[in-house]
Parts: sequence; structure tokens; C-alpha cells
Amino acid sequence: MSDCLFCKIIDGTIPSTKIYEDEHVYAFTDIMPVAKGHTLLIPKQHCQDLFEMPEDVARNLYAVAPKIANAIKAAFQPIGMNTINNNGAAAGQTVFHYHLHFIPRYDEKEGLNLNWQTQKYTSEQLIEVADSIKANL
Ligand code: AMP
Ligand code: ZN
Repeated sequence: MSDCLFCKIIDGTIPSTKIYEDEHVYAFTDIMPVAKGHTLLIPKQHCQDLFEMPEDVARNLYAVAPKIANAIKAAFQPIGMNTINNNGAAAGQTVFHYHLHFIPRYDEKEGLNLNWQTQKYTSEQLIEVADSIKANL
């Protein structure tokens, strides 16, 4: 896509700090990291978000995820790591080329607030939700 920031990073017209590249994916440092080692992994084939991602693109992308996570872990010894993907502006997506964030965690008190409130569902409600999703698989 000619006007996509991350497609331009892949083709080299916009600079990035490359960590890994193969036939299918590209990994680079987030330009505004929320923690040391914050990395983005993207498919070379443009797709806006998870909803638009073909299965083979997902397979090739996630095949590399453990390698990236373990390299960050070995480099900086975080005590945990979040892998996060925002889909849609309402979910916090700002760049509309799918990307998986790797966010190493160093300290529970570091101020990174990635927690959310849980809700109490009855087993009937859980079954109803599951059935609605299953009907659309
Ligand atoms: P999201 O909000 O999930 O769409 O995440 C987009 C991420 O892309 C943010 O964390 C930005 O800091 C990052 N970002 C934006 N422009 C660049 C760039 N030129 N190089 C590297 N990371 C970028
Ligand atoms: Zn793109």
C-alpha cells in the first residue's frame, strides 16, 4: 500500500531500526517505546488488522513470535512480557498495518497500566456468548 507507514518501513523508504527480517515478516524497534526492548512484528503483506489477515500470513507471523520474544528476554532479562495487537481505532490502533507489540515488563510498579476490570458472568451467560461466537466460525 503506497500510503501505509509500515509498508514504507518494509520497502526502506522510511527508516527503521531493524531487528529481524525474513520472506514474510519484519521486526523493528517501536519509535516511542513504552519499555526497554519494545518491539513491533509486522507481516510484509499489507493487511489492516487481524480481521483482514489471511491464515497463511498469521501462521508465518506467529511462527516467528517466540524467536522475537526470547531474543528480547535474553537481551534484557524482563520478568514478564505482554504481546498486544490493537485492532481498530476504538481499540487503540493508530497505524493501520497489522502489528504485534512485544512489551517487556520489568517491575510491577513501573507504571505501565495494562490491566482491565473483569466482569462476573453466570455459566449460562458464558455459554450464550460462546454459542454466538461458535455460530460465526
Ligand atoms: P498502535 O497504537 O497499536 O497502532 O501502535 C502503533 C505503534 O507504532 C506505536 O507504538 C508507535 O510508537 C509506533 N510507531 C509509529 N511510527 C513508527 C515508526 N516510524 N517507527 C517505529 N514505530 C513507529
Ligand atoms: Zn501496509
